[in-house]
Amino acid sequence: MEARWRDIDFLLQRPGKLVSDGFEPGPEVCSAARSVCLVIGSSLSLQLREFLRDFKILVIGAGGLGCEMLKDLALSGFGNIDVIDMDTIDVSNLNRQFLFRMHDVGKPKAQVAAEKIMQRIKGVTVTPHYGRIEDKDIEFYREFQLIVLGLDSLEARSYINSIACSFLEYNEDGELDMSTIKPMVDGGTEGFKGHARVILPGFTPCFHCTLWLFPPQVTYPLCTLAETPRSPAHCIEYVHLIQWGQDREGESFNPDNPEHMTWMYEQALKRAEQFNISGVTYSLTQGVVKNIIPAIASTNAIVSAICSLEALKLATMCSKGLDNYMMYSGTQGVYTHTVSYEKDSSCMVCSPGVPVEVDGSITLQEFIDMLLLDARFKDKLSKPSVSFQGTNLYMQAPPVLEEMTRPNLQSSLLSLMGSKGVLNVNDRKLAGVLRVQVAFRNVATPMAV
Ligand SMILES: [Zn+2]
Repeated sequence: MEARWRDIDFLLQRPGKLVSDGFEPGPEVCSAARSVCLVIGSSLSLQLREFLRDFKILVIGAGGLGCEMLKDLALSGFGNIDVIDMDTIDVSNLNRQFLFRMHDVGKPKAQVAAEKIMQRIKGVTVTPHYGRIEDKDIEFYREFQLIVLGLDSLEARSYINSIACSFLEYNEDGELDMSTIKPMVDGGTEGFKGHARVILPGFTPCFHCTLWLFPPQVTYPLCTLAETPRSPAHCIEYVHLIQWGQDREGESFNPDNPEHMTWMYEQALKRAEQFNISGVTYSLTQGVVKNIIPAIASTNAIVSAICSLEALKLATMCSKGLDNYMMYSGTQGVYTHTVSYEKDSSCMVCSPGVPVEVDGSITLQEFIDMLLLDARFKDKLSKPSVSFQGTNLYMQAPPVLEEMTRPNLQSSLLSLMGSKGVLNVNDRKLAGVLRVQVAFRNVATPMAV
């Protein structure tokens, strides 16, 4: 037994009270993992080590959380990891993004992180992708069996969520095809607080189902800022939002320009003195203006460890998974709490679709026109393309597909679909797909024989 894998082997080769249904301890991939992952193909006696080595996992983000996640996943036996990040290394990252050194400043995070992991952990392949998540097409994401998110932005999470949910397929009765689930593990940290969640789109709540979990960005009423500031942040925001425009008219504020930031700090300090408020510092000014939340290395390490363990559980079924949201707080002592959030049955992103009832005689063209007028979708759609069970009914682009599918516009939707069912609507305004659950009225039912 290779020393490096000793603890992983303990987990995978021993029985336990918390293992998932169908888990069989041993050096081979158990039937439960085989059915969940649907990736083993015909090889029935695949060795676990090989299985984990070939398991395709994508880490999104190579920052504070991403560095930790890459290290944890590689040391847990995952041998085929991709990582995507659009950022380059900044000197301010070095205190916690431990894979980076001074001489790496300016280089792409994904590339340096991948090199460092491969140097330190033999036998692991990490493929870097330097760029925006939006620049990869949907087929790029399809090939991964699991997506792990180490992000700090809600927009990026929503985007990946839409992508993962767009792989879901539902039958005509709105039942989910379990083999189309693309599992996600999400980590997030904010100072001493963090969370980890397991998302099985279509099965557990997706991001969109629980958008309310994310607090709105802190804003202050302008009258408070102008007349009754009570905190250092109020003074800084006053200078940022009001005074800059008055004193430096026509000049746009650049948070990365040290002269601009120093001016802002000095003015905020003057204002604070005027109102007898203490606590305005240069770094607080930066924090308020750039909306920076201090990153704590230990929080990243804890959240990343939890996420990586969940990834291992999902891949091997060696233990029951997190159900489904864990929060961590290290503000006063160490506290964790797990809650099971519920799916929003009418979620636009992960549900079997928004129900739409149409007349049995409607043509595809009339149906598309109707979608564009429907208050529920009209701000989400501009030029919708429609597909049904993998067949393109009408595509707006490329021109060759448009021409091929154009005759369908005059056909009746019912004749194209055969019966009720779930249509996938794509539009360049949407990150993923919009599913519409179509039912027909005024359809003559065939006589029972
Ligand atoms: Zn949802």
